[in-house]
Amino acid sequence: MSRKVYADNAATTAVAPQVLEAMLPFYKEVYGNPSSLYSLGQEAKKPLEEAREAVARCLGAQPREIYFTSCGTESDNWAIKGAAHAMKKKGKTHIITSAFEHHAVLHTCQALEKEGFTVTYLPVHENGIVRPQELEAAITEETGLVTIMYANNEIGTLQPIPEIGAICKKHGVLFHTDAVQAVGNVPIDVKEQNIDMLSLSGHKLHAPKGVGALYIRSGVSIQNYMDGGAQERGKRGGTENVASIVGLAAAMERACATMEERRVKLTAMRDKLIDGLLKIPRCRLNGDWERRLPGNVSFCFQGVEGESLLLMLDLKGISASSGSACTSGSLDPSHVLLALGLPHEVAHGSLRLSFGDYNSMEDIDYILEVLPPIIERLRSMSPLWDAIQQGKVNYDPYM
Ligand SMILES: *Cc1c(COP(=O)(O)O)cnc(C)c1O
Repeated sequence: MSRKVYADNAATTAVAPQVLEAMLPFYKEVYGNPSSLYSLGQEAKKPLEEAREAVARCLGAQPREIYFTSCGTESDNWAIKGAAHAMKKKGKTHIITSAFEHHAVLHTCQALEKEGFTVTYLPVHENGIVRPQELEAAITEETGLVTIMYANNEIGTLQPIPEIGAICKKHGVLFHTDAVQAVGNVPIDVKEQNIDMLSLSGHKLHAPKGVGALYIRSGVSIQNYMDGGAQERGKRGGTENVASIVGLAAAMERACATMEERRVKLTAMRDKLIDGLLKIPRCRLNGDWERRLPGNVSFCFQGVEGESLLLMLDLKGISASSGSACTSGSLDPSHVLLALGLPHEVAHGSLRLSFGDYNSMEDIDYILEVLPPIIERLRSMSPLWDAIQQGKVNYDPYM
């Protein structure tokens, strides 16, 4: 029997048992609407506010700066569209982002371009990192918003967020970061890092799907995205998803309290995997070697089709991804890998392996045992690999 290895924690994670445990009472007994005045409703209100305090604590924010949403995508949409529509009233119509944001940010920026906003997509270079000096040079009189992700979901690279925050502060430009992959994995302090808005999502950190949050620094005024009742201080209508919000808070508290031990464990696993896989010829690690998330690695194997690789790994019980879950189903290589400057053919041979709390070193050993023969097998059937071997197609061996 083959092992089961879930190596796609950047796509979603399993709900932690303690998180589920914390949520259950809010389905069974404490099911009241926190806006209702009778006791059953008010019983749900206190845990909701305690969850807000816990989320705020993990980010170095104030509880009143935390707004619960339905997901990371909603938080990104709200932050970016809400800020854009507010800044337009002050005559500002320019937004700066990066070329390799998650689609929740990229497609939101593209929608705003159709409304007449101008957007600069900063290059991320071969190492997958935005250069602060290029960001500063892109700021004009019209710039009202910068949105740069904290950690990339496909290749795991960490952006220079404190430097970017300082530049935005200096120029009086709002700074939003999509920190969905970073929260719970790297230390975040929104005050120290000059972050005005931050998006996060539950299901990337062992909380359930369908819950997220947006931090909005007090004093920052953006337009509503969800109009409705008076929930979330009138800024985000909709009856609060109390059980999931309690789960999100429990997961964040757990992640923040155990960050260092998890970092040590995941980094050791990640680095063993990198060392092992780089022995395969014409294999490349995507993105900066040091400035990356503890549990995320992305490779390209020349002469290999990412999709075939995923299917063969699946047969061996390994769940992985060739990039973002959101781009699978399209034949184009990932915009993230193209933004690194990789040729299409190389970008097609990508594999992302991402680890979480329920992975172990044995998973790494199993991947290292199973993956190299699969690559060899796929290459033995690949006309592109033949052409590379015969020198008819010439890619940098490290590309
Ligand atoms: C998963 C993800 C999102 C979207 O979050 P959802 O809760 O799935 O909507 C946004 N940004 C990044 C970087 C992500 O990894």
